Amino acid sequence: MSVLPILKWPDPRLAETCSPITQITPEIERLAADMLETMYAAPGRGLAGPQVGAMQRIFVMDTGWKEGKPDPIVCLNPMLQEVSEERATNSEGCLSIPGVAADISRPAQVQMVWTGLNGGRYVQSFEGFAAACVQHELDHLDGVVTFDHLGADERNALIAEYHAQ
Ligand code: ZN
Repeated sequence: MSVLPILKWPDPRLAETCSPITQITPEIERLAADMLETMYAAPGRGLAGPQVGAMQRIFVMDTGWKEGKPDPIVCLNPMLQEVSEERATNSEGCLSIPGVAADISRPAQVQMVWTGLNGGRYVQSFEGFAAACVQHELDHLDGVVTFDHLGADERNALIAEYHAQ
């Protein structure tokens, strides 16, 4: 396994839509292992393919490890099945936008379906921080970053803050 370099915004690859994964090859297995290692090293709780230049629909997530409850998941071709009408706002950081957090409003609960590395189909409901995290990582697969959720004024202010670092 190896720690991969993480692309930083505004790398154009972070604005691209990723391709579905059609086959779970040894390369995909290796990519998933490298992405987990990269996420833990960063340190972060989620990492999506395009953040390491892999333009495929894959992300890894572990929302509990920083609290001593590791629960790593590898999601291939993830999709939301249900989203709640209730919304929640979380302060979201991003390993590709270091040093800047944005308050983003999203559905408070979501149900996601994905394929695991073993080829199995998984369905799970997420709420709280984990719900924000899966939606954040899903966004990356469609070329969307936190800035894209903001109004022009807030977006410009945060981008200025990002570049001023
Ligand atoms: Zn991110």
